[in-house]
Amino acid sequence: MQIGDFRLQILSCVIIEMSIIILLIYLAITPIRFDINLKSAIANLQFVYLSGMRILVDMDEVLADAISRFIDWYERDFGVRYKEEQFMGTKLAFVIPEEHRQTVLSYPHQPGFFKDLPVIEDSQMVLEELSKRHEIYIASAAMEFKYSLYDKYEWLDKNFPFIHWKRRILCGDKSVLKADVLIDDHDFNLSVFTGRPIMFTAPHNVQFTNYERISHWKEALTMFDL
Ligand SMILES: [Mg+2]
Repeated sequence: MQIGDFRLQILSCVIIEMSIIILLIYLAITPIRFDINLKSAIANLQFVYLSGMRILVDMDEVLADAISRFIDWYERDFGVRYKEEQFMGTKLAFVIPEEHRQTVLSYPHQPGFFKDLPVIEDSQMVLEELSKRHEIYIASAAMEFKYSLYDKYEWLDKNFPFIHWKRRILCGDKSVLKADVLIDDHDFNLSVFTGRPIMFTAPHNVQFTNYERISHWKEALTMFDL
């Protein structure tokens, strides 16, 4: 071995040992900071890998009260005001006189039907809480109603500004959507969902007994361990 090589090896060993000593001194004099950083890193890992779920949330009859708009417009056009109790297990269009049915079924296809719908109680507070630990996506089959798109976008901006546009899915067939959870009021969406389907109670779905249910948004706080 050459003298130069030997000196180089000695120098490398000294540098490595000095680095280890400096690292140990740093850890010794900053134990609290190290501890906090470690806990923070573990907490972040838990958030990403253990706690966070991807949750799809429907709009109509889950976040937005579209039923009240049907009731209002029917009263406007025919002078009779129905109550939700009068159409449990079905929809308003199927309990009114048959000659009015097509008019009522056309309501959501008309401009303005989805504009400024009332917000379902506590949905804003609970979704904001859920969004701190889970990925919340809005999933609405808005393509069925061409005039609804702008109104739904505006409604989300106004009432759910904490849900970024990248997490708003205004779509057609929801069966193509994949996630951990779907909260929806319709059996035809929940029955084809491949994750955990949760039915949000609405007058037209009270007869279903085969789903986990949320009847009020505050129930979701305990359901998702908040
Ligand atoms: Mg719905």
